[in-house]
Amino acid sequence: MPLSAAAFVLAINIFVASLFAIAFAIVAVYQRPAPGAAWLASGYAIGILSPLLEFILPYQRDHRLVSFGIFAALLWALAAFVIGMAYCYRLKRPWLALAVLLALSMLTNLLILDMPRDNLLRGLLYQGPYMALHLVAAFVLIGYRNWRALDLVLLALLVVSSLHFLGKPILAHLIGSGDAPQAYLSSTYAGISQSFGAALLITNGLVMLLIILRDKIAEITARSEIDTLSGLLNRRGFEDRGRRLLAQMTRHGVPAVMIVADLDHFKSVNDSFGHAAGDQVIASFATLLSDNASQNSVVGRLGGEEFAILISNANPMTGKLYAESVRIALSGLPPETMGLQSPVTASFGVAGLRQGDTLSDLLRRADVALYQAKSEGRNKVCLFMDTLARPPLSVVSRTS
Ligand code: GH3
Ligand code: MG
Ligand code: MG
Repeated sequence: MPLSAAAFVLAINIFVASLFAIAFAIVAVYQRPAPGAAWLASGYAIGILSPLLEFILPYQRDHRLVSFGIFAALLWALAAFVIGMAYCYRLKRPWLALAVLLALSMLTNLLILDMPRDNLLRGLLYQGPYMALHLVAAFVLIGYRNWRALDLVLLALLVVSSLHFLGKPILAHLIGSGDAPQAYLSSTYAGISQSFGAALLITNGLVMLLIILRDKIAEITARSEIDTLSGLLNRRGFEDRGRRLLAQMTRHGVPAVMIVADLDHFKSVNDSFGHAAGDQVIASFATLLSDNASQNSVVGRLGGEEFAILISNANPMTGKLYAESVRIALSGLPPETMGLQSPVTASFGVAGLRQGDTLSDLLRRADVALYQAKSEGRNKVCLFMDTLARPPLSVVSRTS
């Protein structure tokens, strides 16, 4: 038998679906225990059965079992895709809707197996479940809150895919889909239908892979910018977010203020009460810094027991008030809660944003003010003044 166009596309579909099954399986291995990619991999693996059975169909005397298999394999594959997608997005899995849909669809399919193939109602009842599954997926996705371009592309694809399943019975009704199931593969309808199927299969799979990749990169980046002890941004994260916030402030001509803080005599805290107690002090101080900071602030641990806070929409006086409230709160913390016997204090330097400032300029001036606070006896907040503009070299090198 010569290979029809539809059979050729079908063979390509098997190849492409296998590639996606393997790709998602590899992602699933690296993503454990997140089950999203594993569900997607099983979806593509189950889906392969459908075109495989299409190749067997022309040789069946009684087509019914294989025809039902072709229908059910794609149905289960799409259901697995919906579950996988919901897991990847950390959205609620529509178990009940899918169970009801699958049961009703398979029952209906058994009832229409012997209906004339070009009958519009039969076509709608055959393709309707696939359409419904895509709509369930779209409905699940609508519950997502953090929309970006790729998510909109996926939503659009799901809607297009569901419309495609509505168009299929209409096309079959108009141009015919083979006199008998065994003749389907050599019909023009099969060629068109399988080609659209291939395009959607590739696009949906690719977009889903890109979404997983995008979310993984975002997760890794976020993790690499967080300091595990304090839960604040580390130096890299602080510089990254700080630069972005500063650029925004400069663009809109909005004031901003930088505060740097350093725990006082921290070496002796470690020496007297141990490193674990020192860690507890760092964590408690970090909590005070972020609890007192407004929403539009960037709070980071630059290293050791040094912290920086960039507050947007604020002038140096607001920065000073913030620093004072954290300073008072820290010295008022019961020492026992941190494994200490005496209170711990911190010193603060505050500097306002000036035109043309880079993040390091601002940090350097705040550091000069911090040095001043240290030299004036510690447990103090100092505002940068131009009279302090010539810091000792050692201070400048600390922030560079
Ligand atoms: P000053 O008042 O002048 O700031 O004195 P200091 O003792 O705090 O001086 P310095 O800033 O040089 O000391 C920092 C100390 O912080 C040294 C280091 O042992 C300690 N340290 C740095 N990172 C950590 C950490 O993650 N945990 C603990 N427990 N200690 C740390
Ligand atoms: Mg210190
Ligand atoms: Mg220090």
